[in-house]
Amino acid sequence: METPRFLSREQAIAIREEFGSPVFVYDETSLRANASEVLRFPNAFGLTARYAMKASSNAAILSIFREVGLKIDASSGHEVERAIRAGIPAEDISLSTQELPENFAEIAKQGTTINACSIDQLKRIGEALPGSSIGLRFNPGMGSGGTAKTNVGGPSSSFGIWHGKLDEAREIAEQHNLNVFRIHTHIGSGSDPAVWQKTAAMSIDIVREFPTVTNLNLGGGYKVGRVAGEQTTDLQVVGAPVKEAFQKLAEETGRELHLEIEPGTWLLANACALVTSVQDMTDTGSDGYQFLKLDAGMTELLRPSLYAAQHPYTIIPVEPTEETGDYVIVGHCCESGDLLTPAPDDAEALAPRKLAKTAIGDVCVIDGVGAYCSSMTAKNYNSFPEAPEVMLRESGKTQLIRRRQTLDQILENEIPL
Ligand SMILES: *Cc1c(COP(=O)(O)O)cnc(C)c1O
Repeated sequence: METPRFLSREQAIAIREEFGSPVFVYDETSLRANASEVLRFPNAFGLTARYAMKASSNAAILSIFREVGLKIDASSGHEVERAIRAGIPAEDISLSTQELPENFAEIAKQGTTINACSIDQLKRIGEALPGSSIGLRFNPGMGSGGTAKTNVGGPSSSFGIWHGKLDEAREIAEQHNLNVFRIHTHIGSGSDPAVWQKTAAMSIDIVREFPTVTNLNLGGGYKVGRVAGEQTTDLQVVGAPVKEAFQKLAEETGRELHLEIEPGTWLLANACALVTSVQDMTDTGSDGYQFLKLDAGMTELLRPSLYAAQHPYTIIPVEPTEETGDYVIVGHCCESGDLLTPAPDDAEALAPRKLAKTAIGDVCVIDGVGAYCSSMTAKNYNSFPEAPEVMLRESGKTQLIRRRQTLDQILENEIPL
């Protein structure tokens, strides 16, 4: 019988008993192991590895990563503030954002570095902070995300300054006396070393246009397989051509670039499980489907609805059984899009899974939910409270790192007429 990725059957049952259901469980051992792999990313002249904290932003995760030497990539001014409150030094944070916060000058003065992600951001930064050091995020004209929604480079992506506007960006930077010390390109490059080679070459061509640049940040986007048949990026393999490209630039020009990378998914994806319960079952006749209704759904896990993402589901029957059933798993929201087992390429198509024969009350463990799950939900839809988060420590002990939300908290900001 199948077992969850890192939780034993007994642990899953005990965690539900202690913390209730649903509950996110992070595995400290996996977090530390992933971080040390990331810190071994091939590099020629030094490496700064950042955690893209939007993947999951709990302070406990940030502090484990800080302890092992990762820095932070923040995606909004609020994330910068959140990281600082979690004890991250401001100068260890880099901000690349779609919405430049109003207090960006203050953020920069505290020591956080900002990557201008549009021409207008660059102008605003130049006007407020002439003479300061900044990074420039470019869209090099190519992307490689798994789906259109995860593609963050190319003409259909709004992220970064379009590479055709390079001269304009340089002029604005010069006009305000800005020291462009970093070029940033995050295109969601995936697991193919040939793509990384091309990304690195295109990014280095941009660096050549800016003699003051000392750092090249290639972003994140290292894909992780969650279910059988999906590939996990080998960082040593994709990093090898990147290291060579840096060495080649140094031979040609004497410039020894410092490499930065900022994975989110790769660090987190498989380091967390969602412990849920089967709370109802229904079927639509012999030509229809058998449905399992969990006590979780898009309020915890939105990726299946958004990207038709595939996650492993393990039923833990009260009485172990060899019998199986074909089930469509749905969430608890009154919303037909709250489908947890879509077909791999179609979020709207029902794709039954063969699972252990189940009954109402069984535990269902959903794996691969570390990245863009707890932090990216249809929070409070149907007024379901936000689920708690637990850290499974290296010692084997479990520790609550976020309480379950209460109805009072959901209503906190409402003002009755
Ligand atoms: C989201 C993001 C990342 C992390 O992407 P993953 O696919 O989770 O590795 C890195 N850099 C930037 C700028 C991002 O927006």
